[in-house]
Amino acid sequence: MLSVDRLCEQLKARGRRLTPQRRAIIQVLLENNTHPTAEQVFTHVREDMPDISHATVYNTLRELVEMNLLRELDLGLGERHYDFTTDNHAHLVCLGCGRIEDVPCDGNAVKLSPQHTHGFQVVDYDVIFRGYCPTCISQKA
Ligand SMILES: [Zn+2]
Ligand SMILES: [Zn+2]
Repeated sequence: MLSVDRLCEQLKARGRRLTPQRRAIIQVLLENNTHPTAEQVFTHVREDMPDISHATVYNTLRELVEMNLLRELDLGLGERHYDFTTDNHAHLVCLGCGRIEDVPCDGNAVKLSPQHTHGFQVVDYDVIFRGYCPTCISQKA
């Protein structure tokens, strides 16, 4: 399981400075495992640390992504979302309200046959199911 302490240790192990701000950002990401945007992370962290800057939040998110500890998702909702769950899973996205759910996705479900890779070494892919959640369906009816 991911924990704030373990993630902080990984940062330190890679020679990154561990500031109280970074710790707070990691904590917010873990506690709100709802695929927040950078802006939502910023708003949450600021509740405890009113002095934190946008740049600190954005830079920390970028570093965590670069270190493969955090996934950056473009779900077609206009903003990037952040996800600490880096193992294979797909996303269900509501086009009405932007609700995002994790759904299991077997890595073998999406496979490029060798003749279709154009010589690429594929390292990542995203599977996104788009539609409308029950709340949005009942509001439309
Ligand atoms: Zn919805
Ligand atoms: Zn996810």
